[in-house]
Amino acid sequence: KPTSNSAQHVDITTSLHPYTDARRHEEKGPLIIDRGEGIYVYDQSGKQYIEGLAGLWSVAVGFSQPRLRDAAAAQMDRLPYYHIFAHKAHEPSIRLAEKLVEMTPENLTRVFYTSSGSEANDTVVKMLWYMNNALGRPEKKKFIARTKGYHGITVASGSLTGLPGNHRDFDLPAIPVRHVTCPHYYRFAEAGESEADFTARLLKEIEDVILEEGADTIAGFIGEPLMAAGGVMPPPAGYWPGVEALCRKYDIKLIADEVINGFGRLGSSFGSVHYGFTPDIMVTSKQLTSSYMPLAAIIFSEEIYDAIADNTHKIGTFGHGYTASGHPVATAVALENLAIIEEQDLMGNAARMGEVMQKALAQYADHPLVGEVRGAGLIAGLELVADKASKRPFDPIGKVGTAAFEFGHDEGLILRNVGDTLALCPPLIITEEQVHEIVARLGRVLDLTAGWVAAEGLA
Ligand code: PMP
Repeated sequence: KPTSNSAQHVDITTSLHPYTDARRHEEKGPLIIDRGEGIYVYDQSGKQYIEGLAGLWSVAVGFSQPRLRDAAAAQMDRLPYYHIFAHKAHEPSIRLAEKLVEMTPENLTRVFYTSSGSEANDTVVKMLWYMNNALGRPEKKKFIARTKGYHGITVASGSLTGLPGNHRDFDLPAIPVRHVTCPHYYRFAEAGESEADFTARLLKEIEDVILEEGADTIAGFIGEPLMAAGGVMPPPAGYWPGVEALCRKYDIKLIADEVINGFGRLGSSFGSVHYGFTPDIMVTSKQLTSSYMPLAAIIFSEEIYDAIADNTHKIGTFGHGYTASGHPVATAVALENLAIIEEQDLMGNAARMGEVMQKALAQYADHPLVGEVRGAGLIAGLELVADKASKRPFDPIGKVGTAAFEFGHDEGLILRNVGDTLALCPPLIITEEQVHEIVARLGRVLDLTAGWVAAEGLA
């Protein structure tokens, strides 16, 4: 059933989170997106929306990019499918691996493919477990992750994710993981605490967890350089270099989940480059193919590769892979997508347009509903609060954010609400005029939401 986009039909009692509520979905029907072009998508009635979230934080080069269609078609004609098991390979998978090694920091020299970010993070878990078994230290198996971090939805990656809603009803975490405090200064700093003190406290917490558990039991620390899906939260200054130093000190592998940050989102090649740290493992997906194809790539160090490769005689081959690992059409599309990102300097565009967007959004810091405007490059979050001075959230959290999300549809702006934080993450091809159009539409969404909050007596 086509949905009504009317604000009068906003019913936010059943769905306070961004996932699909089955009964609500039956009742209301989905907004059916019919086609896309550049930064825009169109529903079945022909109504245009700016895709302010680039799909799911994905479509770097925009919708309906003909070069990606042509790359997919050419590969379909030549070799539509083959696997990379049992000493087989095919050209696009090899060329993409070479390209990824070239693009990422020098220490990352090896590539493993999966079809999704979740599978990639599961693979990372198994890679480090295998490695530590091979190195004769089977007790080094635990992970440190952060609350509000998002690393996927499968049993292992969902365990690394630090969102209670992803654990609560699924008996997760199912692997040994400790979640440390989300490095979001606005929400988690103590009263009067400076940013530097906040950073120092969080680093001490991580070191305390390491010492409490025993460094010999901890395999890896995983984090998104800028936490995205949990609410767009840039780290405080000094946080990542501090985490990196702790990982080196205690021989813990550092994993950068670049699934959203990677390939220019923050205006730098990768989030880890942006924040000045060097991971042992980088996990990429989404903008890798602009999500035209399901593909993820793990790029990792020679040291980890050697530990696995040199020890297969001891414990058997690394028995892990997928039918679609390195899928030829997906890797061919990724190569073309990365070529477009380079030729059109989309990372540079993200840096330039990101600055325009962050500056323009800053005006809403004065809006009565907005507690904090934050972000980096072409990703931003606006946290809506009941009381600006005390940062008191709305009760229940998510009700107002969901209303804003739906007003967005009325105003022709697709965004995402993470609780009451409105997230923006437009395609990297965006122009200055389009940035201002997004910001203008968002302003109308904020005003409509403020009117609704007042009418409902929610403030
Ligand atoms: N890591 C991060 C940082 C993500 O944002 C996501 C997806 N939003 C994932 C992992 C999981 O990727 P997928 O949905 O492809 O399994």
